[in-house]
Amino acid sequence: MASIYLDNAATTPLYPGLANDMCEMMSRHYGNPSSIHAYGRQSKTIIEASRKQVAQYLGAALSEVFFTSSATESNNTVLYNAVLHFQVKHIIYSAIEHPCVINTAKYLASRGWVTLHQVQVNEQGIVSMHNLIETLVRIPSNEKSLVSIMHANNEIGTLQDLKQIGDICKTYDALFHSDCVQTFGKIPLYLQSLHIHFLSASAHKFHGPKGVGILYINKNNQINPLIYGGSQERNMRAGTENLMGIFGLGKALEWNLLHQREHQLHLNMLKEYFIQNVIAHINGCYINGSTHPQESMNHIVNVSFPASPKSELLVFNLDIAGVAVSSASACSAGIEKDSHVLEAIHHSPDRNAVRFSFSPFNTLDELKKTISILNKIF
Ligand code: PLP
Repeated sequence: MASIYLDNAATTPLYPGLANDMCEMMSRHYGNPSSIHAYGRQSKTIIEASRKQVAQYLGAALSEVFFTSSATESNNTVLYNAVLHFQVKHIIYSAIEHPCVINTAKYLASRGWVTLHQVQVNEQGIVSMHNLIETLVRIPSNEKSLVSIMHANNEIGTLQDLKQIGDICKTYDALFHSDCVQTFGKIPLYLQSLHIHFLSASAHKFHGPKGVGILYINKNNQINPLIYGGSQERNMRAGTENLMGIFGLGKALEWNLLHQREHQLHLNMLKEYFIQNVIAHINGCYINGSTHPQESMNHIVNVSFPASPKSELLVFNLDIAGVAVSSASACSAGIEKDSHVLEAIHHSPDRNAVRFSFSPFNTLDELKKTISILNKIF
């Protein structure tokens, strides 16, 4: 039986050797990073090495990088603070944001603290700049707004133009937050050329450990903590640091950057092969989102299959055949329905969408096997 993992947008395996390095680090360095003795200082040095790694990648200052438990926490921190600390009265987000942005924004609105504005995307999942400007123009000039638009979408891979969005936010004096979970470490993300105030990422999406996230906060926008207690993370996030996670995050980023070019070439090749072959072999299927390399991440391919009993059970059948993928639908009250992302791009509800997502560890041979398994299923 094949054993093929094509769900790398959900999470990625640790890169080879990292688990050992993490275990060794953890058994050798157990001092509390807040302690002033040598044990504590060694642990603190490990955390600061990871912070330096992240800061250099982003072109940011060390003081602008914070470690959290997840991108979910980072995104929550930004949205809460925008409202409670910056007196933001309007949150503008795209129709395809991750639930941890949408649901946080909805909660803040349900308390009457903020008005929400959803920006539309086109059928490829690209945010409408026209609609974004229209929305910003309508906001009274004495009321502050936060724009939260993700870099790449986790279901369809569509990539947004952060430079253009940042420039629009600058023109209308809006704060700009981007959830960069699906791009961080994979492609260059140099913030010096971008007008961006907050950015979130998560180590487990780039071959690092689960349970550790990143929050970049531009130095002109210091915020209040979401979690209160001790003075960890320069009073921004209390609680003894996840030393092993932060170590693993820094190492994973270093590994990604070292191999970025070769990973990109490999993923381009995998994506091109998969798209060409799935379309050639499976009757009536098409790709959701953009397939243009400039508008789409190369580790995600979302395929729409014609509705049939076979395609309804496709994720299940692929799993039985040893191929792990995700469906892009959510089960609500026992009824399968398209996700909010698929609805936003007007995906036909009588088709079944499946997300195949790759990592540099996937091989052409694995994709050939997957195509052959799909052929057998249909
Ligand atoms: N944002 C995006 C785009 C994601 O893909 C995910 C994870 O699926 C998250 C946020 C949440 O990340 P975490 O698992 O670190 O909370």
